Amino acid sequence: MRIAIGSLVLPEDVRRDVLVEMDDAGVVTAVGSGSAGADLAVDVAAPAFANTHSHAFHRLLRGRTNGGGGDFWRWRDVMYGVAGTLDPDGLRAAATAVYAEMVAAGYSAVGEFHYLHHDPSGAAYPGHAMELALAEAAAEAGIRLTLLDTVYLRGGFGTDLVGPQVRFSDGTIEAWHARWHGLRDTLAAAHPDVTLGAALHSVRAVDPADLARAAAGLPADVPLHVHLSEQTRENEDCVAATGLTPTALLERAGVLSPRTTAVHATHLTDADVAALGTARVSVSMCPTTEADLGDGLGHSEALRDAGARLTIGSDQNVVIDPFDELRRLEGGARLASHRRGVLSPAQLWRAGTVDGQASLAPLGAPAQALEVGRPLDLAILDARSPRTVGADLHELVLAASAADVLGTVVRGRHRASSTLRDLAVAAYPRTEARDA
Ligand SMILES: [Zn+2]
Repeated sequence: MRIAIGSLVLPEDVRRDVLVEMDDAGVVTAVGSGSAGADLAVDVAAPAFANTHSHAFHRLLRGRTNGGGGDFWRWRDVMYGVAGTLDPDGLRAAATAVYAEMVAAGYSAVGEFHYLHHDPSGAAYPGHAMELALAEAAAEAGIRLTLLDTVYLRGGFGTDLVGPQVRFSDGTIEAWHARWHGLRDTLAAAHPDVTLGAALHSVRAVDPADLARAAAGLPADVPLHVHLSEQTRENEDCVAATGLTPTALLERAGVLSPRTTAVHATHLTDADVAALGTARVSVSMCPTTEADLGDGLGHSEALRDAGARLTIGSDQNVVIDPFDELRRLEGGARLASHRRGVLSPAQLWRAGTVDGQASLAPLGAPAQALEVGRPLDLAILDARSPRTVGADLHELVLAASAADVLGTVVRGRHRASSTLRDLAVAAYPRTEARDA
């Protein structure tokens, strides 16, 4: 695949008349100039975005939960209503719809934080049916999938799983490890493009005594994600039960490291920020979800300054738009600090692209970059839309929207956004559609 790009917007600069050659895996084999022999010629492109935190099935709640107020916990009860009914076919349909929407919006990779493992009674489906449904959806939409298979063993500090939560649990850390390793073999045979990662749902869902064992039973390079301090109640319950904040509990268990991604990290103490930075973790900020659920504003500036790596996630998928996430990330920092340019355009591009891709890859794997031997997926942008015309190309990150993505190249394969948007509508589960 040979792509000629009039203007390639990289985090640090904009390069003109670039000719990129990629192999079938989307790995750059040569970087030159001009357009001779190009299979595809585009005016403006940027490295594709990485969505580091998704729950695909939450897409089914979009536009249905805004009446009557409430808070995160009330929303969660509604979400559990959906989680309690999905079977593999329903999950595949919802995931295909939302993954197609993601690729249409310029995302080439997604980290699926997945805990709907078993049937509603808690019994195992044969053959990892729910996990394979996600892999099949990713293949149909053409997105790189990092499946973050999640351990979820209890309902909270000192409480058991009840009702719809029962299907999340493997029962013990050992049983989770056994299923995880079996899943890895299954995916290697059937879906070798899928990266299998892991997740601890939260300090609510795993006993403190199990945290270290959960991480230690995984290969050392596997991406490990964890929800962290999205809600103040989680912090209060954790301190009451253990005397430690959730971050301090994870630090004590040895869970924080460069392979770790902390999701949200909204309500932190100064010591928490320092611990996350010192451990060089990635942080998945999910600004559209955090705003939708009234979670609060995160600590993007302090985390960056402490040494953590910022990334973006769409989480509950009420919005699929990397530009919206990044604009809200910077907007939140401005509202909190009363200053502009807290995160520079270069830092926003990095958070949305290369740092996000690294959070979804095995530790030490080559991260996305315009260098021979590294993967480069592309988002093809319209710089002459009503939103973008006149903008400095490097500031498109603060001017464009998902509607300005014309197509996405994933692993060297180009797909038009218009086709993907049609797929997103067609794949949406019929039983959930209002007009069906
Ligand atoms: Zn989440």
